[in-house]
Amino acid sequence: MAGECPGTSIPEAPASNGVGVVGASHAAVALADGLRSAGYTGAITLITHESHLPYQRPPLSKALLKGEATVDSLRLRDAKHYEDNGIELVLDTEVTAARRIGDGYTLELSSDGRTSERTFGRLVLATGARARTLDLPGADHPDVVVLRDLDDAHGLLSRLGAGPVAVIGGGFIGLEVAATARALGLDVTVIEAADRLLGRAVGPATAETLLAAHRAMGTAVELGAVPEAVVGSDDRIVGVRLDDGRMIPATTVLVGVGANPRIELAEQLGLECDGGVVVDDRCLASDGRTLAIGDCAVHVSSTGRRYRLESVDNATEQAAVAASVIAGTEAPRRQPPWFWSDQGDQKLQIVGLVGGHTSVLVRQDPDRPRRKVALYFRDDELIAAECLNSPADFMVLRSALGRGLRPSPGELADTSVPLKKLLAPVRA
Ligand SMILES: Cc1cc2nc3c(=O)[nH]c(=O)nc-3n(C[C@H](O)[C@H](O)[C@H](O)COP(=O)(O)OP(=O)(O)OC[C@H]3O[C@@H](n4cnc5c(N)ncnc54)[C@H](O)[C@@H]3O)c2cc1C
Repeated sequence: MAGECPGTSIPEAPASNGVGVVGASHAAVALADGLRSAGYTGAITLITHESHLPYQRPPLSKALLKGEATVDSLRLRDAKHYEDNGIELVLDTEVTAARRIGDGYTLELSSDGRTSERTFGRLVLATGARARTLDLPGADHPDVVVLRDLDDAHGLLSRLGAGPVAVIGGGFIGLEVAATARALGLDVTVIEAADRLLGRAVGPATAETLLAAHRAMGTAVELGAVPEAVVGSDDRIVGVRLDDGRMIPATTVLVGVGANPRIELAEQLGLECDGGVVVDDRCLASDGRTLAIGDCAVHVSSTGRRYRLESVDNATEQAAVAASVIAGTEAPRRQPPWFWSDQGDQKLQIVGLVGGHTSVLVRQDPDRPRRKVALYFRDDELIAAECLNSPADFMVLRSALGRGLRPSPGELADTSVPLKKLLAPVRA
């Protein structure tokens, strides 16, 4: 019987209609692979309104824009992988509505003006997030763009080279695009309303180093700068006017002001949402049956803290957990979350959750000024680290946190001794 594998009882997914997944990106593809690895033999259907085979998003702001990657090289898997593993990919199709029918679900699909319905025994929301836009005069001009998917990347790519670029928002995507555009020789200005870069994501020490690095790359970074309007004619834009009257020249404007989780289907299903679909440790939403994974999901930790992560690692980790729930196998042990961002020659890697810390220790070797590690402690226990241009330290810290080591600031303070040595003798 489909939905079962020899010797394993899988009572939750009716064999006739299997698992329906809305979205076909990092989280969805990892879920499908995880289900097959766990021995799930039922039908798996991934539905996306994108027209491309599932692809990696991180290179959209880096290698693809620079011309160092092609659309083919971005594919998460080739077409044969889906065929060979019995994973049905439904492209160019939007899921416009979702209803619960008993233990199962009916989804309403819209494709090319035609609507249809599909039913599934299990539903996984892997709907991700959509880029926020700006409600400013002139911001609806076609040369004001966002970057979330491959079509956006092609739109941005086709505009780069026409003239100066203004990036509104000093977050990860804005800074990555700024660095890439500088590497292409373009004049770039980053416009950030706060008084520092990456305010929501990293601590001040890391933000200051990155600010200096972007300025050294030749990017103009305007902090405390509030855009008031995009100025130009129907034909072309000429710049962004700030609220202090200054004009930032630009023929292309990238808006990088964050992303909103796509929660419409969850709301239709009556699931609790709070800046994302609220899920427990098993990725189960508030009805205890629907699953949500990746950028659309807000995780409630055992301490009650709610957080939503936008990272490939989080998407794949949550997918592995959701696969184990559906297949009825043992859940994988959760590892501390991690993230990376490449901004020109700057490589930032973060492990753990920054926030709720009580002290910070910054390790910097004067002989290697490019390298910097900011360590975050709660009640004298290491909880997170930001590593700039220090991949070896990042690996050591990730492994230590993953093994449950929680060293104190005193144990890591001596910057003359490498972290590798300092962490070796510490026991969980
Ligand atoms: C430019 C860029 C650079 C990034 N760089 C990094 C990086 O360096 N490191 C890192 O860790 N992370 C990075 N990220 C973040 C990472 O890509 C995301 O965390 C990851 O893509 C999340 O995967 P997901 O599957 O949850 O959602 P998404 O990748 O957002 O995929 C969701 C999919 O579902 C589709 N969908 C949603 N609703 C519907 C519906 N109703 N019907 C049909 N289809 C639907 C969407 O169109 C989309 O294709 C980057 C993201 C971007 C955009």
